[in-house]
Amino acid sequence: MTETILLGMPKRKPERAPSRTGRSFFVRTYGCQMNDHDSERIAGLLASDGMVAAERPEDADVVVLNTCTIRENADQRLYGYLGALKRAKQQRPDMQIMVGGCMAQKDRGTIQERAEWVDVVFGTHNTHRVLELLDHAEEWGPVTEIWEETTSIEDIPSTLPSHRESEHSAWVTITIGCNNSCTFCIVPIVRGAEISRRPGDVIDEVRRLVADGVAEVTLLGQNVNSYGRDLDLNGRKPLFADLLRRVGEVEGIRRIRYTSPHPKDLREDVAIAMAETPAVCEQLHLPLQSGSARILSAMHRGYNGERFLEKLAMARSIIPDLAVSTDVIVGFPGETEQDFQATLDVVEESRFDSAFMFQFSPRPGTPAAEMGDRVPAEVIQERFDRLVELQNRITLERNQEMVGQRYEIMVEGPSKRDPSLITGRTRGNKLVHVPGSWEPGTFFDAEIVRAAPHHLIGSLV
Ligand code: SF4
Repeated sequence: MTETILLGMPKRKPERAPSRTGRSFFVRTYGCQMNDHDSERIAGLLASDGMVAAERPEDADVVVLNTCTIRENADQRLYGYLGALKRAKQQRPDMQIMVGGCMAQKDRGTIQERAEWVDVVFGTHNTHRVLELLDHAEEWGPVTEIWEETTSIEDIPSTLPSHRESEHSAWVTITIGCNNSCTFCIVPIVRGAEISRRPGDVIDEVRRLVADGVAEVTLLGQNVNSYGRDLDLNGRKPLFADLLRRVGEVEGIRRIRYTSPHPKDLREDVAIAMAETPAVCEQLHLPLQSGSARILSAMHRGYNGERFLEKLAMARSIIPDLAVSTDVIVGFPGETEQDFQATLDVVEESRFDSAFMFQFSPRPGTPAAEMGDRVPAEVIQERFDRLVELQNRITLERNQEMVGQRYEIMVEGPSKRDPSLITGRTRGNKLVHVPGSWEPGTFFDAEIVRAAPHHLIGSLV
């Protein structure tokens, strides 16, 4: 076994000249927005070293898999994919394979035990070191670099080059880690305790992005509403509401979104800051997870269905025309038909604009994975179908309420299905197709003329 465990390597010197000019990379991302954002940084670092993006992994000199532990069978998928890469590497021995993200953080050295053709394994807080890790692997052989408890926010520099998917929209990390202990979630285990970035650093990054042509930012954290609780700025803890207002003051920023808040921590001051800061969009992602008090307690969520509805009513009363999305898990251990009915009731009453709906699957390492009283798969499927049917109806009704109204659209690009249309988004993050041709990043007003379950059709006003 050739694995080297390497911790605390000296940091790469930023002044190093590009050394991989003409070589190519491919980044494959699994999981959430955090991983999407990390992948943009990884791609940006590789591009800063002279590399160009390859269309296919088998053509790339460096293949990066940014992994997630959330989905069921995540490890089978990873090792299946690594098996395919092994064949590509046998044909092209110079290919370097890197595995990062949550699975790498959780499984550490075992990845190279099972797939010894992997050159680099790096943890969730080591994305900024991909180049030095590649150098090290080239010279010394396979390497594993995993974040340990000593990591601070300074180890995750915001000034990294980023290879963004969109020229006009960008992610901005405001916290890493999480102090909650939701029993279904692996994040606190793999990403550690919450660390907030200083407000000045966040503002500086937003200013740089705006100077680079970005009009829309999404502030990212596992629980943005607890932002700043770990900071001490001259005896004061900055609040998320203050941060929203300050980001809103950056000249040139047109849209600010954020994800995700925790319902238990959503307070009036944030809703008021949203309503009073013109650039902050009327959009809220508020993860419900379940409507049953019993199941929410087993999940360690810190609220019940009633309290969730109160928070939602508070936000809607303060922010006009608020679009709300959510997450729901079906079939958590011990969920009875009565518990599920409570979820349906809260979903019906909440009238979410959209929902990410999941069937419970145990994630190794979480308390929920050890819980008995599992719900049979066919029962989960049947409940899931009922929930999807309910939410689809509500989503369509919410979209139909928009017909005849005027909304600001930000263009993302030509429609993938019909190039005579552009695809854009409202401030509420609704997908709208409009006949015509505009550059990505253009803003205009459209009247909604037709509603479908998952998109709207508009016409230029
Ligand atoms: S709030 Fe809960 S679900 Fe969200 S990241 Fe933290 S532990 Fe996971």
